[in-house]
Amino acid sequence: MENQLHEKFMRMAIELSEYNIKQGLGGPFGAVIVKDGVVIAGSANKVIPENDPTAHAEVSAIRLACTALGTYNLSGCEIYTSCEPCPMCLGAIYWARLDKIYYANTKADAADIGFDDHFIYNEIAFNMEDRKLPFVQLLRDEALPVFKQWGTAGLNNTHY
Ligand SMILES: [Zn+2]
Repeated sequence: MENQLHEKFMRMAIELSEYNIKQGLGGPFGAVIVKDGVVIAGSANKVIPENDPTAHAEVSAIRLACTALGTYNLSGCEIYTSCEPCPMCLGAIYWARLDKIYYANTKADAADIGFDDHFIYNEIAFNMEDRKLPFVQLLRDEALPVFKQWGTAGLNNTHY
């Protein structure tokens, strides 16, 4: 794709981010998902209006794109996000199998305005016992047999 087209899609993501704050709907984040040069979905951050801490722009756009295309696999699609993704959205982008990430603002720019996700990146790197959030393992002996059934459940276990 031509650079102009990439910039057009990124401007759409930035416009979504700006619209969000002008309407008082939430944080200044927007994302657009494109396949073969066609916009499939776009969303701003919807955490506040939906009372959903996972409704970041990228996750919301992924949900809309998956619904629009009737799939959980967005390979062949690319995402344009007004800011470098947080760890949650980055994980979602990998799970959705998007081909490429275009971003505008950096996570340092986000930290400068009060959206600092650095502590999550730090937490991921720590051993479980060194994290701020306590992890407690329970009932693995009851949960593990369910995993063992997965291969025989009749579902397509080549996916996830
Ligand atoms: Zn995010």
